[in-house]
Amino acid sequence: MAKYLVTSALPYANGPIHFGHVAGAYLPADVYVRYLRMSGHDVLYVCGTDEYGVAITLKAEQEGVEYGPYLDRWHQEIKALFDQFKIEFDIFSGTARCPYHQETAQTFFKNLLDCGLVNDRVERQWYSEESGRFLPDRYLTGTCPECGHTEARGDECPSCGTWIDASALGNPTSLIDGSKPVLKETRHWYLDLPRIQAEGLGGWYANEDENHPHKKWKPNVDGHVKAMLKDLRERPITRDLPWGVPLPEGVTDESGKVLYVWFDAPIGYISQTMEWAEKQGDVEQWRDWWQNPDCRLVHFIGKDNISFHAIVFPAMLLGQKDSWNGKELNLPWSIPAHEFYNLQGRKFSTSSGWYLDNKSFFEKYSADAARFHLMLTSPETSDSEFTWEGFQTTNNSLLADKLGNFAIRVIKFAAKRFENKVPDSNGSCDDDPSLKQADVSFASIGGYIENNEYRKAAQALLAACDSLNQYFDNHAPWKLIKSDSEDDQAKCASIIERCIAYLDLLSRRMSPFCPTAAANLRQMIGQAASDEADIWGDESASSAPARVAAGAELGEAEVMFPKIDDDQIAAEIERLLASDIA
Ligand SMILES: [Zn+2]
Repeated sequence: MAKYLVTSALPYANGPIHFGHVAGAYLPADVYVRYLRMSGHDVLYVCGTDEYGVAITLKAEQEGVEYGPYLDRWHQEIKALFDQFKIEFDIFSGTARCPYHQETAQTFFKNLLDCGLVNDRVERQWYSEESGRFLPDRYLTGTCPECGHTEARGDECPSCGTWIDASALGNPTSLIDGSKPVLKETRHWYLDLPRIQAEGLGGWYANEDENHPHKKWKPNVDGHVKAMLKDLRERPITRDLPWGVPLPEGVTDESGKVLYVWFDAPIGYISQTMEWAEKQGDVEQWRDWWQNPDCRLVHFIGKDNISFHAIVFPAMLLGQKDSWNGKELNLPWSIPAHEFYNLQGRKFSTSSGWYLDNKSFFEKYSADAARFHLMLTSPETSDSEFTWEGFQTTNNSLLADKLGNFAIRVIKFAAKRFENKVPDSNGSCDDDPSLKQADVSFASIGGYIENNEYRKAAQALLAACDSLNQYFDNHAPWKLIKSDSEDDQAKCASIIERCIAYLDLLSRRMSPFCPTAAANLRQMIGQAASDEADIWGDESASSAPARVAAGAELGEAEVMFPKIDDDQIAAEIERLLASDIA
């Protein structure tokens, strides 16, 4: 059994998250974690909100709200959506609320400085004399030097997407007070990525051993890494801001310097591991996840986060050398980066009204159907999208008609014909091509999940249900039961026993995707359910589920996936179009 530390990108506590985020960095991680746990691995799943940075301070200031309450609001709202999706972290904290974060981030900075991997220099940045503060990044608006767009930001042009050197911005204006800023000297610190590349990162990526972690990474990550390594430059890691992790004491006498949010945020994975470990009674346990070379570090992210998780954070980890008690920190073992997930042909956008109302969605539809649909349409190799019609099809034609239908017809048949008990099997219908086909499909699911191929895993589950329905249809137990032949009667009993045995297996294989429905299914098979609800179990295609003891009492048939009718879907689409203000 292996040890896994799984992380999902820290969502920015600056607004709501939507299904697109969930499909990218959170739900696949939750499915992966549930599967690993059922397979007996030791897993820790860490996430929390990213709570520093200009985007937060600026918006809180514009709303006239203090940073703390502003962050709490979004932290809670984001957590609520994860809860609705049944995404279960071992810890969900935040970079400003985690008691270990500030010190850990400062130590990271200090270690890099001590190892000669951080340089400082004085440069000129825009400063508002009216407000008496520097205006980093989005605090500044002006004309884009590339395209002439007049509302470009200090860090990026929203029109042409160019990264902007703030000193090149035309007609710069302070966004907080409308004043014309002046250039003023200020000292900043830079992460020396070229040097870290020369001292280790380059070699790590040049390792062509087939077993080296990066050799298995997806093409979207691999391509990005190769392009970046060709032209690595220093990156600023400090800012003049009133909100952030202050520079460690003794580094400078100048006040108002904080760590740049991109630098402190990924350290949140470590500080929140410490917070989790403290809650387990021993904070030092964090080392077993970050310094144990046998622990596999897996980062689930969206594609916009690849450079930080594949290059910058590994550089920060490598640059720590053996500063943490003489031991190095682990580098990522896997980086499943997902593409974007859209809504009915366009990007999700809360501000332009193109989104799903999370609260009303879960009042009407089940988390399991949403989870399964998002995984079946997972943006794992290319951009993908949520459509209401697609969701209806998944729920009605796939989950209800294939999976739910098989369960209900078996349980109802047993209730009516076998006194709601498992009938005695003579094994006469064990050997069957449809069941063999189901075995093959069931046996492939785990491997697909491990490989981050969630679409294939979901499809395999449905294929197994197809095979099971075929088995039922081909043998037509409803005819056999009415036959005068004892042979036919025995056959009928054998078929139903097999179906119940496979329902037990089905409940476990569907569990990472649809945990609630899986538990319902186990209730439906009552005493016939094995004791192994949380155990993935034998995965070889050549082994069929064990014989279920005759006479075991079954539960009650229950609709797991209520159908969604056409009118309801039409109303949802109408509502979406009506809320669109773009
Ligand atoms: Zn532009």
